[in-house]
Amino acid sequence: MVIPVTNQAPRSRSAPTGTAASAFDLSGGRLCLDFANTLSKRLTSHPTELLASYGDLVAWSRQARLVTAREAGVLIREAKRRPIDAAAVLERGVALREAIYRIFSAVADERPAGGGDLATLNAALAEVLPLLGIVPKGDGFGWGWTGDEQRLDRILWPVTRSAAELLTSAERAAVRECDAQTCAWLFMDRSRNRSRRWCDMKGCGNRAKARRHYERKKRGHGGT
Ligand SMILES: [Zn+2]
Repeated sequence: MVIPVTNQAPRSRSAPTGTAASAFDLSGGRLCLDFANTLSKRLTSHPTELLASYGDLVAWSRQARLVTAREAGVLIREAKRRPIDAAAVLERGVALREAIYRIFSAVADERPAGGGDLATLNAALAEVLPLLGIVPKGDGFGWGWTGDEQRLDRILWPVTRSAAELLTSAERAAVRECDAQTCAWLFMDRSRNRSRRWCDMKGCGNRAKARRHYERKKRGHGGT
């Protein structure tokens, strides 16, 4: 069974038509960063876990267009049949996400990545690389996945590959972490002068502006 690689597809904020899954924000600019952003309000005492179940992981992968509706159905059925395996994949996925977050947070901050986190990513890569193969694509060939479509961890394959590719490319210099006090979402800064500070101008950007405005006003009334 050959599964075409779909992680090169254009990223989109909106869910593919016909799915219920639209809860995730896919504005990171790279698949691995969108995956890292499945924990909200990371820097608060109560972060919001968006991957609370294996079903959430499938919903995310569906919205990120890693699987079709039919393939998502296969995974959900398989997870119901093997709940312990599904829980283990979720646990691995969250551990991988945390390693990816810390690695790219360090990259954004120009700090060295932690050896333990690189080891986690390398362990995931060691599982994923043997599943890559060449498949016919259009008039030519491309990279594809040769693993079984019923494998519950297939969602983690393109995520792992995306992290490895971004980390080894010059584009990693564009990785940023949101400047908002509690957010810590990661994104690719595509602004002309490389000055984007927030994951989202409507959310974090607006809140930061409102806070600055409030603080300026407060200082103004203080008469200093
Ligand atoms: Zn943010």
